[in-house]
Amino acid sequence: MIEPLPSGSVVGILGGGQLGRMLAVAASRLGYRAHIFEPGAAPAADVAHAWTRAGYDDADALRTFAASCDVVTYEFENIPAASLDLLAGAAPFHPNRRALEVSQDRLTEKDFLAGLGLAVAPYAAIEGPGDLEAALAETGVPAILKTRRFGYDGKGQARVTAREEAEAALATLEGAPAIAEGFVTFSKEISVIAARGLDGSVAAYDPGENVHVDGILSTTTVPAAIPAALRTDAVLLASRILTALDYVGVMGVELFVTRTGLVVNEIAPRVHNSGHWTQAGCAVDQFEQHVRAITGWPLGDGTRHADVVMENLIGADVARAPALAAERGVQVHLYGKAETRPGRKMGHVNRVTGPAR
Ligand code: AMP
Repeated sequence: MIEPLPSGSVVGILGGGQLGRMLAVAASRLGYRAHIFEPGAAPAADVAHAWTRAGYDDADALRTFAASCDVVTYEFENIPAASLDLLAGAAPFHPNRRALEVSQDRLTEKDFLAGLGLAVAPYAAIEGPGDLEAALAETGVPAILKTRRFGYDGKGQARVTAREEAEAALATLEGAPAIAEGFVTFSKEISVIAARGLDGSVAAYDPGENVHVDGILSTTTVPAAIPAALRTDAVLLASRILTALDYVGVMGVELFVTRTGLVVNEIAPRVHNSGHWTQAGCAVDQFEQHVRAITGWPLGDGTRHADVVMENLIGADVARAPALAAERGVQVHLYGKAETRPGRKMGHVNRVTGPAR
């Protein structure tokens, strides 16, 4: 058995948003101290032991940060490769670099997933307008053009519903390397949150059913209304991805439910918005699970004991929090962000709708 890091150890977290904040709280519950690295505003720093406020290009700050940590993790995947080079070797780093490289680039990600034999949308690389013809021949139309890097919440994407629109759609991506993806006809979007420990053990939560509004996650409902066989497929494929990457930590795997089975949309090498329901639905939530995984604790019990609907509070929605808090079975999480902006994730609520079905 692996000895967990001792109490008082420092868990470094790259990124200071709400995911970092909830990770820091989970780390504190296991006796650890969180150290946040974040150049901008940092809701996570409010609940952490230390905050290094510096840029990802600040070599001295990164080295000093890493030297103060017993393990380093992250809450977002777009960490520059040069920063990772600076951190390398200073402290254990989980999930590993390969997981970051795969998820930072949609083309690498698709190649990796397809290489595992998993179903993905038909796809092709686009370096410039000259590649459009061949790419769309591969994917068919309708298609979605997506920047290979730095896309999130539907940003860096353009739909092509007719061949003639393709050049204009590509122009909106402003010359960034991109991929074309065939449009997948799906009945539902689901996701699986799964974890792999330092000892190689794997645990997965029940898949949740996701609804997006304007490209941003709005609700996650568990259980997902899908046949039991698909739930099993989802968990098995997540576990294959984790094992193939020699992964340590929590991962979110987003999937489309189609007539012919599950198609993998994308993977996120971190705790995931669609896993927030675990805070009300499981003895050990995704944040504690992640901290357990990277610090050498046994993975926790992720059995779902309740039916839950997670709703994001986006922008002005946050004003509804007090009214929601008065409702039966509702757990409120606010992120402590100073400024409310349209489209900004301000908090979420988990509504327990009954015992686990
Ligand atoms: P992404 O940023 O890749 O997760 O895309 C954001 C959202 O766009 C997804 O949650 C889907 O609702 C939709 N979407 C992305 N890719 C596809 C696709 N190939 N076919 C159909 N819908 C898609």
